[in-house]
Amino acid sequence: MSRMKLILARQALCHGGLLVKDAGILIRGGRIIEIATSAAGTRRLVRNSGVVPEDHGPGIWTAGLVNAHAHLELTALGNTVPRLPFARWVSALMGARSELGRTALSRGLAQGADRLLNTGTSTVGDNDSLGLAAGVLASHPIRARVFREALDAWDPKRTAKARRFSRAPRRGTATLAFGFGPHAPFTVSSALARSLAQDARRRRAPISIHFAESRGENQWMLTGNGPLAGVLPKSPGISSLDYLEEASLLGSRSALVHCNHVKKSEIERIAQSGACVVHCPKSHEFFRRAKFDPEPWLRAGVVMALGTDSVASNPDLDMRAEMARLRETSPNLNPERIWTMATEGGARCLGWGQRLGRLEPGRAADLALWDLAPRSRAGALEALTGSSPEIRQMIVAGRAQHSVS
Ligand SMILES: [Zn+2]
Repeated sequence: MSRMKLILARQALCHGGLLVKDAGILIRGGRIIEIATSAAGTRRLVRNSGVVPEDHGPGIWTAGLVNAHAHLELTALGNTVPRLPFARWVSALMGARSELGRTALSRGLAQGADRLLNTGTSTVGDNDSLGLAAGVLASHPIRARVFREALDAWDPKRTAKARRFSRAPRRGTATLAFGFGPHAPFTVSSALARSLAQDARRRRAPISIHFAESRGENQWMLTGNGPLAGVLPKSPGISSLDYLEEASLLGSRSALVHCNHVKKSEIERIAQSGACVVHCPKSHEFFRRAKFDPEPWLRAGVVMALGTDSVASNPDLDMRAEMARLRETSPNLNPERIWTMATEGGARCLGWGQRLGRLEPGRAADLALWDLAPRSRAGALEALTGSSPEIRQMIVAGRAQHSVS
């Protein structure tokens, strides 16, 4: 039986409850097995468990943040890709990436994961188009769901190879698992999309797909016109959402990333399907896109999550900044909602809705200790989502990861 660990928490933001003082968090096998929510209860837990408790100092313990969408393989590029219209930005990005070798890209990938961990993120959903992520993340302390990104640009000659790439990794570790990442409707043929949906169903793996990020891609899907005309072969002549549905990619296994150009009636259809949605506030700001309003999505009952995207469209990889940016653009959104997006919502998008995202017995022991001393739960959520507090310690799967001085 694996060793138990007991964390003494001066303050803890437990799921659904009040802000708890002098809590005790008992961990075994990488999971939280019990939480004592009073000083007396914690003393009892220390006595009964026989475990020497760990005290990491003052601050508030919460569930670790979940970044539902990143491209860590681009971290080595730094912030060198200029702000350009989307299609030109993509080619500038590809050009910059091709100048870097696999060693530099792998090093960047690890540095990106370090940065996330040091800023409160215990789990990342990472899109991997080069096949580097699993090798790096298998030995990195962050928890990761790697989505092998597949695209064939609607060229049937590329379809089989893209599918093979996407389904190649099978075995993960205790903190590394895989999902399927069809890149986007306009870059993935219906045949490839259908086969990936099938693979995901067979392996019970989640799917992450960029969806309706730019107006131009929707236009090309429907009519073949717009900025992508001539760049891609013949358009399928259906809406991006019909395409998803026809390929069996619209369902509770799927996370749709961006959703910037979606009609009201389509929000309802997405909600009905059980798919969740990832918003990347800082990347959204980078492209100067029209305001994204989470309210209609939340009203429709869609589970929403937050992501950083990559450093090619974001000055940093820091989920604290994503929450703070969303507070700025949606000042009426309750901080609790934003916190849920950055924790439970992300867990759900990565296929770990029952396992991660809450400070609660039964969930993974993925915790963050923040340099804060709030007076109430509302005050805690206000500060956590709005003011990027320092991180003093991270625990992933029960293991302490660093101490920030
Ligand atoms: Zn992306």
